[in-house]
Amino acid sequence: MTSPALQRVTVLGSTGSIGKSTLDVIARHPERYRVFALAAHTSKEALFEQCQAHHPEVAVLAGADDAAWLARALEDAGLSTQVSFGAEALCAVARDERVDTVMAAIVGAAGLMPALAAAEAGKRILLANKEALVMSGALFMDAVARSNATLLPIDSEHNAIYQCLPAEHRGGLARHGVRKLLLTASGGPFRQWSAADIDAATPEQACAHPNWSMGRKISVDSATLMNKGLELIEACWLFDAHPDHIQVVVHPQSVVHSMAAFDDGSVIAQLGNPDMRTPIAYGLAWPERIDSGVETLDLFQIARLDFEAPDEVRFPCLRLAREAMQQGGAAPAILNAANEVAVEAFLSGQLRFGGIAEVVAGVVQAPHAHRADSVEAILAADQWAREQASLLLETARSSENQTGG
Ligand code: NDP
Ligand code: MG
Repeated sequence: MTSPALQRVTVLGSTGSIGKSTLDVIARHPERYRVFALAAHTSKEALFEQCQAHHPEVAVLAGADDAAWLARALEDAGLSTQVSFGAEALCAVARDERVDTVMAAIVGAAGLMPALAAAEAGKRILLANKEALVMSGALFMDAVARSNATLLPIDSEHNAIYQCLPAEHRGGLARHGVRKLLLTASGGPFRQWSAADIDAATPEQACAHPNWSMGRKISVDSATLMNKGLELIEACWLFDAHPDHIQVVVHPQSVVHSMAAFDDGSVIAQLGNPDMRTPIAYGLAWPERIDSGVETLDLFQIARLDFEAPDEVRFPCLRLAREAMQQGGAAPAILNAANEVAVEAFLSGQLRFGGIAEVVAGVVQAPHAHRADSVEAILAADQWAREQASLLLETARSSENQTGG
């Protein structure tokens, strides 16, 4: 048997939850994967440790001082890794001609430009950063098609759907006999909470996800169901689907990762333990399969699977996201930016949990003339939405102060 060609991988967001899981899978297959670059925001010590373990050619941090610290530490340790910093450096390691595969696992809008750079350069893109597709779905999918890049979804639901669909599913789902996509949601930590309790939930409660261990931003999104809303938008772009053909199904066990329903009545599902190393290994090895370190599902231990409809009254973010997708243009980018600001305010104790949906609703309802026909236009919409969200936060804070709250 011939051995597989070595893939050189850039991991953007290597110090995060997805980044660490990616390095865990890579380390199991040294004959298949070599780390070309690792990139983080400010976690310089963690990045240093990862460099010691994986010997990348390049390491990227956001700031010059952190980068200087890392360069010194690497030199002292006798490692030859080059250090660079800033937004352009992220794009450079995504499009470098020595790179085959890019794991896009930076959280939030900051991940857009490097993911787009990988798409434009025709890489194999393992896309975890759903915000990139939410903000610039049309441009992103265009870039992938033009450069003949390979786009493999890592978000567990989309990875599941990808596995359930026929190998060549481009050109609209109806052409391939797909009636709808069933996007599963755990329901998050507040699935059974009253509206009043949800409104007053703390960051610690919101980040305590029942099934998945994830970064704090996506954990809060899972608790508001905005994550499922962003995923609905993501699925529309990835699978060329209309929002009406995607049904959200709450499935508290997070064992069925999503499904596709076909014209003949068949429903095909992908199941597995809730561990992101499965979709990551799928993306790294596609179209082959490799060991991810994840145990096979024990169905006797799971014993039962439950399904229920989502409650859009207690969780209005899901509805807001669907409406943004139906509206199209810059609306999803505006929704995403407002949500990022609101989640950050919530995590830093400046906004009630219930305030997240209020801020997002306030921003998406404000009149605007933003378009989504270029990256510049999308970034302008993103910036405008952040300013609007900050204004709403200030108003909310001053009215709380006036009522003595
Ligand atoms: P984490 O918060 O755990 O990690 C985020 C990573 O991005 C860190 O390495 C962080 O570096 C880096 N980062 C943050 N901001 C910047 C920036 N401005 N420039 C460069 N790097 C930056 O997030 P997750 O791993 O949970 O999520 C990553 C992405 O994957 C998100 O888009 C999320 O929606 C998606 N996703 C995650 C899943 C999960 O299970 N975690 C599941 C499905 C999708 P530093 O450590 O220095 O801050
Ligand atoms: Mg997901």
